Amino acid sequence: MEPGSLWSEVIGSIHVNQRKVESIPFKKSMVGVWKNIGDIAKEFMKNGININTSFRSKVGLGDRTLFWVDIWLGNATLKEQFPCLYQLSTKKKAKVQEVYKVVNGGILWDWAWSRVPCSDAEKQEMVSLIHRLQQINIVNKGDVWVWKYNEDEEFCVKSVRHTLERNLDINALPNSFYWNSWVTKKSSMFVWRAIEEKIPSAAALRNRGMDLQDVTCKICGEDEGSAVHILLKCNFAKRVWNEVAKWTKTPMVNMEGNLTEVLQAFLDSQRSRNIKKILHAIAIQSMWILWLNRNDKIFSGRNRTVQMVIEEIKESSLQGVSQRSKHRSISKQ
Ligand SMILES: [Zn+2]
Repeated sequence: MEPGSLWSEVIGSIHVNQRKVESIPFKKSMVGVWKNIGDIAKEFMKNGININTSFRSKVGLGDRTLFWVDIWLGNATLKEQFPCLYQLSTKKKAKVQEVYKVVNGGILWDWAWSRVPCSDAEKQEMVSLIHRLQQINIVNKGDVWVWKYNEDEEFCVKSVRHTLERNLDINALPNSFYWNSWVTKKSSMFVWRAIEEKIPSAAALRNRGMDLQDVTCKICGEDEGSAVHILLKCNFAKRVWNEVAKWTKTPMVNMEGNLTEVLQAFLDSQRSRNIKKILHAIAIQSMWILWLNRNDKIFSGRNRTVQMVIEEIKESSLQGVSQRSKHRSISKQ
């Protein structure tokens, strides 16, 4: 007797749904999709999402799903759930449909073990695997891959994009933000997101569906707490920018504009290339510190004066630029 078939007999009672399906829906080749996904997998990882575990197969016939390697039964691969048995399998890359046979309306599983599972661990896994397989229903239609975060829809790029838009905001249109190497990545990233109103301001949270009664600015009590308000149009921010302009000997920034215009104005000033880069770094740092100050006020109740905030901007810009560039000429005066 073949090692695998012993167990096949034990669970030979799983029934196949014999319903005829005229055409098997087969939307697009997974190969192409996986290639596209592979390109942005790193982006996903940065946001703590492992792309390889973000899809699962809803098995019909088992025609597009690898038995051990794909996620289809439970929240992990069978290889991870049953490591001892996986070691014994001689068909490690088999599709689900290559591991079973339909006999008299029942299913016979044949895993093709290299030897009969016999250790306690192996037997335990066997019992558990059989139990799991009894819960599934082989149906006469093709497998469907679904994006884990939206299981009702068949996997398609649109639903992935939709999830990203909601949760990660990484597929936003690129804006013309200049990535200044003399500021920390954290502040750059923050400003880049702020330009698109994708920082968690009260207004943005409300727009994302959070039930917020009060979206007024917690610093000045006026207007909405949107990114452009917090970082530019708020009375407090205006006073800070005024001081920044004095310190850097640049014209006062245009309060009626947007964040991109403010940053651009520093880059366009009639100064040397390095000075422009420093000014731009200071502008980014100013926005970052304004944001930290706002959070501190809301969450810790700390009240800083304009002068204190300016000191922080000077201190952190000075530190950033002197650490990241060869230029140590920046002065706090
Ligand atoms: Zn305000």
